[in-house]
Amino acid sequence: MDRPDIVKKDISDFTIKPNMDNYDSFCEDFSWDLMKKEIEFFVDGSINAAHIAVDRHVQRLGDKVAFHIIGEDWEKHPTYKDISLLSNKFANVLKKQNIEKGDRVFIFLPRIEEMYISFLGILKTGAIASTLFAAFGPDALLDRLSDSGAKILVTDSSLKERIKDIRNQLPELKKVIVVGDDAGDDIHFWDEMNKASDKFDVEHMDPKDPAYMLYTSGTTGKPKGVVHTHYDIVQQHLTTKWILDLHKDDVYWCTADPGWVTGIVYGILGPLSNGVTSVVDARRFSAEKWYGIINDYKVTVWYTAPTAIRMMMKEGSDITSKYDLSSLRHLASVGEPLNPEAIWWGIDSLGLAFHDNWWQTETGGILIANYASMNVKVGSMGRPFPGVKAAVVDENGVELPVNTEGDLVIMPGWPSMMIGIWNNKEKYDSYFNNGWYYSGDRARMDDEGYFWFVGRADDVINSAGHRVGPFEVESALVEHPAITEAGVIGKPDDMYGEIIKAFISLKKGHEPSDELKQEIKTFIKGKLAGHAYPKEIEFRDNLPKTRSGKIMRRVLKCQEMGLPVGDTSTLED
Ligand code: ATP
Ligand code: MG
Repeated sequence: MDRPDIVKKDISDFTIKPNMDNYDSFCEDFSWDLMKKEIEFFVDGSINAAHIAVDRHVQRLGDKVAFHIIGEDWEKHPTYKDISLLSNKFANVLKKQNIEKGDRVFIFLPRIEEMYISFLGILKTGAIASTLFAAFGPDALLDRLSDSGAKILVTDSSLKERIKDIRNQLPELKKVIVVGDDAGDDIHFWDEMNKASDKFDVEHMDPKDPAYMLYTSGTTGKPKGVVHTHYDIVQQHLTTKWILDLHKDDVYWCTADPGWVTGIVYGILGPLSNGVTSVVDARRFSAEKWYGIINDYKVTVWYTAPTAIRMMMKEGSDITSKYDLSSLRHLASVGEPLNPEAIWWGIDSLGLAFHDNWWQTETGGILIANYASMNVKVGSMGRPFPGVKAAVVDENGVELPVNTEGDLVIMPGWPSMMIGIWNNKEKYDSYFNNGWYYSGDRARMDDEGYFWFVGRADDVINSAGHRVGPFEVESALVEHPAITEAGVIGKPDDMYGEIIKAFISLKKGHEPSDELKQEIKTFIKGKLAGHAYPKEIEFRDNLPKTRSGKIMRRVLKCQEMGLPVGDTSTLED
């Protein structure tokens, strides 16, 4: 099988020319100030992200579908005008409850229309919006609602049960608004909506006023409440246009849940700001349903995550051929390192390469990416967005020579950089040193300025004096035909400092055995340097993951060492 290391791009091959047709020339002419013209400021220089995302389009695109929302036995297709008017109504509902600029209003809802309306309505009032993943239990909710001092919670009649026992511990939570029939003593969402006017003068916000806060995924420890501004929309708009390459007639599908930053930035604000129609799948995952969505809705641009791609891969390619997937034009991935195997699978099964990109809750938008028009070096995260200075530095913040592993840092000043960690100035300050923003990730940069992910700083392994990044070992492991997923840790060892231990889950039709372990070790020895092969292998049905789909190596490590695993509020069941 042909397994290219580079996916070459030639601009003359594109039937639809990428919005960014030449990376280098876009970098040369770039300035964030110039880019503000993409965004509609109010005459007094203020903005409101919800106005930019929705209201400014209504005159031209009012009847265009904003979201196709697909439930188990229902569908909804609100237009731009619907979303604009309904979020106006919701803003009025909040005003009636005395919500003021800066108050925190949290949403704890599944992927239903009300979730999108509420989010945008909150922004319109100038309050700070946040979302809570619908699978959270009471402890995760208590942590986040009390840390943020949320004043109103929007939820539904079934999820409301989960706050029943914690409500008396939330003195700042004044009101609960309930979607569904069973509001009890709380506020009935649609009763209030039906009474409210659909006219609302959106709050004019200073660009640097907070718009939303989100808790990180909790992969490395306790989630942090990251605060973002209305001005972020400049970067959200532009990265959506140039990296996800959305054109006006695209049908775009971002699979991330709005409980996480990707679901907010690239599931709501970015695509709306670009006036595009999005698909939202509110159902439980199955490969058939996913292929069915591409087939039925003629999805053109698909933004997903490595875990989801691996779940599709696990099903094998027989099922792929049952669907018409020819509408797809551009594929992107984020959230975790994208193994080369996943890119090759995309090329074989979908006829397209996934374009990896890197960012964090804290960065508020994509900072490093593979662009539609730029050659993809398989396994690399790509190159910094125009106007973004990324570097790999040593412990003093000095830039390292090419191809040397170090801390991945960014020069502060990009528009969507967080402005704070809620209630934790010390934590916020700890991100900045030597004039850089420290991502906490380790990387290398090659001689063409492509960045290569090594691992999270805490996950990099030191074995007999050799530093080994888990990504490299995991990527080699998933190339083995029996392996779906691999999580690699450093296990403390008297002789070597750490030895490499791999946790592996197998594809359908493969059984764990000692022979298979041996075969895998031999397979890896043929691919990686001698010190990088896993001395120990353990088979697992599933690897521990966050609900946003990231392998929790720290949980594997603590389990291995018999230590308490710390905050597991985001651990998948
Ligand atoms: P926490 O900060 O609470 O431990 P988290 O870091 O997983 O959780 P997010 O902000 O959702 O929370 O994730 C950002 C992190 O995800 C990055 O720092 C990086 O480690 C990883 N990541 C994101 N995109 C990529 C990518 N393309 N390649 C490799 N890693 C990625
Ligand atoms: Mg993080």
